[in-house]
Amino acid sequence: MPKKQKINILWFCNYLRIKDNESLFNVMQEELPFLALYIFDENFFSSTQYGFKKIGKFRAQFLLETVLDLENNLKQKNIPFLKKFGQTKDIFKQISKDFEVKKIFFQREWTKEEIEFENQIKPIFPDAKWVKSYSQLLLETHFVQEKLDKIPLLFTTFRQKIEKDFKIRNEFDSEQLVYNKSILNLKINSDNITLKTLGFEDFEIHQSTAFPFSGGETAGLQRLNSYFFETKNLSLYKETRNGLIDKDHSSKFSAWLANGSLSAVSIFQEIKRYEAEFGGNKSTYWLVFELLWREFFKYTSMQFRNKIFKPNGISERKYECKSDQNLINQWINGETDSDFINANMLEIKKTGWMSNRGRQNVASYFCKILKQDWRIGAAYFEEMLIDHDVHSNYGNWMYLAGVGNDPRSRTFNAEKQAEQYDSDQKFRNLWLK
Ligand code: FAD
Repeated sequence: MPKKQKINILWFCNYLRIKDNESLFNVMQEELPFLALYIFDENFFSSTQYGFKKIGKFRAQFLLETVLDLENNLKQKNIPFLKKFGQTKDIFKQISKDFEVKKIFFQREWTKEEIEFENQIKPIFPDAKWVKSYSQLLLETHFVQEKLDKIPLLFTTFRQKIEKDFKIRNEFDSEQLVYNKSILNLKINSDNITLKTLGFEDFEIHQSTAFPFSGGETAGLQRLNSYFFETKNLSLYKETRNGLIDKDHSSKFSAWLANGSLSAVSIFQEIKRYEAEFGGNKSTYWLVFELLWREFFKYTSMQFRNKIFKPNGISERKYECKSDQNLINQWINGETDSDFINANMLEIKKTGWMSNRGRQNVASYFCKILKQDWRIGAAYFEEMLIDHDVHSNYGNWMYLAGVGNDPRSRTFNAEKQAEQYDSDQKFRNLWLK
């Protein structure tokens, strides 16, 4: 039998970028050649326990665009890239027939399903070394550990301790490195993957969407440049962020952040560059403040692990709920007795997007007024949202259900919120007409 070629693998999951990519930076320093890999695992496109898909059509489209952009960027660097659809373990088995894999470079994950994936692969390459990085985080874990013995329940405590002497690492210089090795005998071909492959029909982007953007690092960096340097909207962020309609009412970075095509560290460094050039103000501070919320939910889930999926959440406070499929359907279809809730629910259904203000209101309504199992609402969001991020989604849902990081367990008054944030009814008219 011919000797198998020794290679490393760079397994792309939720860090779909070449800029500030620690794993790419590290694998480039190795002597062995490497194969970059992305798998559309078919399990992500089937239904979960509540009958929703893990990834719906809006995020699927965004992901296809993202992976295509990554493929183009890697091609320009002559990095061999394999894009597959199927069962992750079958694809790794196929690779193992032709190659001896020495190291697998990977983003560290800590939620249940992501760990299960890793565990499926380990027996296929029992001798391979896993080299993991925390590419999704803004704050380095050792810095957070230095500041806090454990992650506090309250965001304010977390933020105050962290902000005191904020340390953010420099970006990894991954995109500048030159690659000149090659893989012989790559017999496996990339798949041609479309929305149809993933189980969806083609669709048109809704003309009224507040998120009219494409997926991919290139589009993400364009958005960053436009929101900061071209329009200087960053200087108005605090005043505009609660708007419901316009693409510039908030940064809209979340979808690129969620699949890692934008790095939180790069955004932070660009805020600092912007402040140096145009001056800082409440708004430039507030975007960092919001990025810390994202960070807080990531560290919270790292500490509490699978508790974030349990009915009583991390607080272990009893969550009383009923089970009424009619009420759930009315909520999903925008047929409740609140027109503000309905407008928001129609927006997410038609576009895959909803503002933070909208999300807070509809989640509070689902938990406190309809009194349904908050995990069903979270699972619906998981399917629909273009920007779904497991830590932010389940963290925010727990918070609004009163089983998370908010000891007060407040209820949003949708009518008052509508008066305050949609006094001219423009938003409601847009979706209810
Ligand atoms: P901006 O206002 O421009 O904020 C900049 C960035 O800060 C965001 O991109 C995001 O990364 C972070 N951020 C802002 N607010 C929050 C917050 N409350 N929690 C965590 N991070 C925040 N965000 C997701 O990225 N994915 C989700 O799946 C998700 N699910 C949510 C579910 C509920 C019930 C609620 C109330 C909020 C959820 N959020 C989620 C948080 C928030 O609504 C979105 O991050 C925000 O609306 C995205 O728009 P933006 O990028 O324009 O935000």
